[in-house]
Amino acid sequence: MTAVEARDVKLSFGETPALRGASVAVEPGEIVAVMGPSGSGKSTLLHCLAGILVPDSGEIHFDGRRIDTLSETRRSVLRRDRFGFVFQSGQLVPELTAEENVALPLLLNGVKRAAALKEARPWFQRLDLTGLERRRSGELSGGQAQRVALARGLVARPGALFADEPTGALDSLTGEQVMDLLVSSAREEGTTVVLVTHDARVAAYADRQVIVRDGKVNALVTA
Ligand code: ADP
Ligand code: ADP
Repeated sequence: MTAVEARDVKLSFGETPALRGASVAVEPGEIVAVMGPSGSGKSTLLHCLAGILVPDSGEIHFDGRRIDTLSETRRSVLRRDRFGFVFQSGQLVPELTAEENVALPLLLNGVKRAAALKEARPWFQRLDLTGLERRRSGELSGGQAQRVALARGLVARPGALFADEPTGALDSLTGEQVMDLLVSSAREEGTTVVLVTHDARVAAYADRQVIVRDGKVNALVTA
């Protein structure tokens, strides 16, 4: 059984076709990088796989269950309970401390504040952020903020982590450090990862790379 799968997915924004029959199947615990030129449909594919967008046709499956036919409410519960997200930047709440930001998914899942903060704390050591727990997120460097965002994406132990250009705003050395930590933590947790990037050095961290061109997944490269 695949963990995350798109089958012949088509989606247009008005007259603009973004996906024209995209298929991809990700195994449990696999880390897949989605590459391709700007405007080829990478983000749209990620948003479909993550249950954010609903395709015009085709199917999306998660853990053997079809999710594109679920109601908006059920998809949002699925995203909250089973998925983690990391985006390019600007995703932390700047007024909250780093540890409050990491704890947010747990708080949204109904975990009490003290317990949520306690679960957040080990992630600071794992992601090389020790000492920054009480720092306001708005005062973190780009690389620190992205590691906090990664901790937040993983803290609720999601079945799948969806990352859209997670190193896009970072210089290459900092980006490689974030990717190192993303891959090592996902492996330890057994988390399936779908990662959108246009950067071949970032994609090289994945188990497998797929290329999106003109709204289709049309090439496979095994790392
Ligand atoms: P990529 O992530 O590969 O850069 P996208 O999935 O963002 O590509 O976009 C694919 C195509 O769909 C592009 O032509 C883009 O302009 C268009 N598109 C994406 N999102 C929207 C939207 N919300 N409204 C209109 N067009 C969109
Ligand atoms: P990425 O760099 O990840 O491909 P973009 O900068 O293309 O992301 O898009 C950022 C956001 O804007 C996304 O939510 C996408 O759906 C939306 N978007 C992209 N292209 C268009 C468009 N032509 N019209 C409206 N919204 C768009």
